[in-house]
Amino acid sequence: MATRAYGVTAADQAFTAMDIVRRAPGPRDVQIDIAFCGICHSDLHTARGEWPGTVYPCVPGHEIVGHVSAIGDAVKGFRVGDAVGVGCLVDSCGQCGSCDDGLEQYCERGWTGTYNSPIADPPGHTLGGYSQQIVVDEGFVLHIRHPREQLAEVAPLLCAGITTYSPLRHWGAGPGKKVGIVGVGGLGHMGIQIAHAMGAHVVAFTTSDSKLTEARALGADEVVNSRDSAQMQAHAGSFDFILNTVAAPHVLDAYTALLKRDATLCLVGVPASPHPSPSVMPLIFSRKAIAGSLIGGIAETQEMLDFCARHGIVAKIERVRAQEIDRAYARMLASDVKYRFVIDGSSM
Ligand code: NAP
Ligand code: ZN
Repeated sequence: MATRAYGVTAADQAFTAMDIVRRAPGPRDVQIDIAFCGICHSDLHTARGEWPGTVYPCVPGHEIVGHVSAIGDAVKGFRVGDAVGVGCLVDSCGQCGSCDDGLEQYCERGWTGTYNSPIADPPGHTLGGYSQQIVVDEGFVLHIRHPREQLAEVAPLLCAGITTYSPLRHWGAGPGKKVGIVGVGGLGHMGIQIAHAMGAHVVAFTTSDSKLTEARALGADEVVNSRDSAQMQAHAGSFDFILNTVAAPHVLDAYTALLKRDATLCLVGVPASPHPSPSVMPLIFSRKAIAGSLIGGIAETQEMLDFCARHGIVAKIERVRAQEIDRAYARMLASDVKYRFVIDGSSM
């Protein structure tokens, strides 16, 4: 079935309307009418070919929310009309150790991303949520239990929410823990809210003067201007965990210096070019770690959505029309988004 989408035909091209084809729902499939789709910095990295391996046409979008419009005969968990979400994953092997552990994002045979992953259906790779409809195996569809009027604000949880929730859970953010969130963008503003709701003492690090006070309103107990070395120095050796969401290369030593003995700096940002190599001395002398984390599995994504619904957590968004995606990308690159652009599906 043909559906309207917005995508790019090459790395240096602007977004244009295009008609794409979605498969007819199979027995285990859920067909979703997309109401809103968030704009993640990963969409920009992919559409512009900043990471290796983009195939064109590229229709990004993995922060999808909408309503079920059809289901296959064997679908058990969803009914027509349900409010649902789809994040970064639409399939995995289902048989390896990681899939058995509910960690589909680390599938050892390679998971299928919501966009830019090889599939049999034309055009040979997945096409994402900057579109009016999508068809997804029910095992990769999430229930949304927030009030319906918050649907647009829930969209960013499907990537920005889970990408911050998963490492915060894994490294034990909670009462008595001092947790840093670096970068107050799409991911960072979710990380601040989630770490605060988990009960941690939250310190936000930003390069934007305009976010110094706003980060407090999101739940940060303290906010540090990361360009001010005296402010940074005041926190030396004090953090249990730091989550770094920055999308550009920068000197990581500034953050390893802030960790306690045995603490971890977890990177989730994936810059187009590498960070300068970190110094090993602070790691060795205090047994500190630099780690990474990728989104989250399906069960944990549902857990995160329900946690956020219980705590009244949603993204702060600016709605845009599909025709404004290029302008939204330019503003995202300038750190000028408070704090996530969300495409209104009705503008398609
Ligand atoms: P975003 O909305 O653009 O936020 C990134 C923030 O980083 C900016 O708002 C800015 O915050 C800060 N920043 C930008 N340039 C900087 C610089 N040169 N130096 C220091 N700080 C800078 O992006 P996002 O959507 O949150 O995504 C962030 C990164 O995570 C991207 O690389 C994305 O691809 C990646 N990502 C990874 C995963 C995963 O599973 N690991 C999932 C989703 C996204 P301030 O204004 O506060 O300084
Ligand atoms: Zn994303």
